[in-house]
Amino acid sequence: MPAVLVPDRLTRHVAAGHPWLYADAVPEVGGARTGDIVLLVGQGRRPIGHAIFDADSPIALRVLATRKDERPGPALWRRRIETAWRLRQTTLDLSTTDAFRVLHGEGDRLPGVVVDLYAGCAVLKLDTAAWLPHLDDLTAAIVEVVNPRSLWFKGLSGQRGGDEVPASQRPRVLAGEEPPPQVEIREHGMRMRVDVRRGQKTGMFLDQRENRRLIRQVARGRETLNLFSYTGGFSLAAALGGAPRVTSVDLARNAVDAARDNFALNDLDPAAHAFVAADAFAFLEQTAGAAYDLVIVDPPSFAPNHKAVRAAEAAYARLNASALRQVRPGGLLAAASCSSHVPMDMFLRILSEAARQARRPLRLLEVRHEPPDHPSPLHFPEGRYLKFVLAVAE
Ligand code: SAH
Repeated sequence: MPAVLVPDRLTRHVAAGHPWLYADAVPEVGGARTGDIVLLVGQGRRPIGHAIFDADSPIALRVLATRKDERPGPALWRRRIETAWRLRQTTLDLSTTDAFRVLHGEGDRLPGVVVDLYAGCAVLKLDTAAWLPHLDDLTAAIVEVVNPRSLWFKGLSGQRGGDEVPASQRPRVLAGEEPPPQVEIREHGMRMRVDVRRGQKTGMFLDQRENRRLIRQVARGRETLNLFSYTGGFSLAAALGGAPRVTSVDLARNAVDAARDNFALNDLDPAAHAFVAADAFAFLEQTAGAAYDLVIVDPPSFAPNHKAVRAAEAAYARLNASALRQVRPGGLLAAASCSSHVPMDMFLRILSEAARQARRPLRLLEVRHEPPDHPSPLHFPEGRYLKFVLAVAE
């Protein structure tokens, strides 16, 4: 087994549960190929754990195990998936929800492996090509523990479609039947159709489930604007919670169409609401101010890497300031950010700046991170990517 000497200052982080070692922070891993299991050694060649190697990623090593009795291999993958599955069974209300994350990579100690379940259809997505040589073993473990109707491989995150994608990375059925074009799921009783093949991420943004539920609780009587609405999750929640009229705005025409269909699926009359395929920034510019009692802003990440953070801060502030100008006095702003490079304290500062720009002081009602099916190691701030803030505007 190839071995790598971990610098002293990093062994502490590995022991504390940080799952990543960057290529530029460790010596070259001699003779290892992508997918190999590598022994991590500390001072005096003392073994400190095992990691999986990716020759082409800036994250060269993802830590699989740090305990002496844990040997990486199919039995460990299975145990990790079993533990994750049990955690979901005991922390989620599965009587009203059948769409959730079964396995959250780093947070479930299988770094780089994500499995989402949509009403019996499992979707597997990998953050690193290192897992490709282990795909058969992962498949067997998922089938054994989760027993899905189908297991669909969504490919590598960040990967674009097209012919240049090697066959091993192409989306395909790994087990069971072909997933239907639309999987119908329930989230706290709310119904949605999910396209696991063509949808964003694995089909849906499951990490906002509890925040959609919160919106459902506070939306009664509030005219609502949902910016970056995708397939209408927050919009449906608002309408089911009693918002008389919900305006959904997304750039993707097919997402807007799906949102309209999802309204009908929940016996909500789409004609009573507005569905707009448009750029959210342009929409805000063209709209006269203060026309809504609740504005939801859940944009895609503005900071894909650390260098983009400064520009992203300014962009988040400007966007939220424009959104805030649409809120009637005493109304609510629900602002989210999913960039791991923007921690919560920074996001709260950004919202202060937005409030200053719009001259609309905010009072916080709720400040939230990921739900329990998206756990993250405490010693891994990069894992706390989701911020959701509900505030009332003066
Ligand atoms: N709130 C959604 C998830 C939003 S994801 C949910 O709970 O399901 C971000 C969405 O922003 C995507 O659907 C994407 O199509 C959309 N988007 C990206 N850029 C946009 C823009 N400039 N204007 C409007 N929508 C945009």
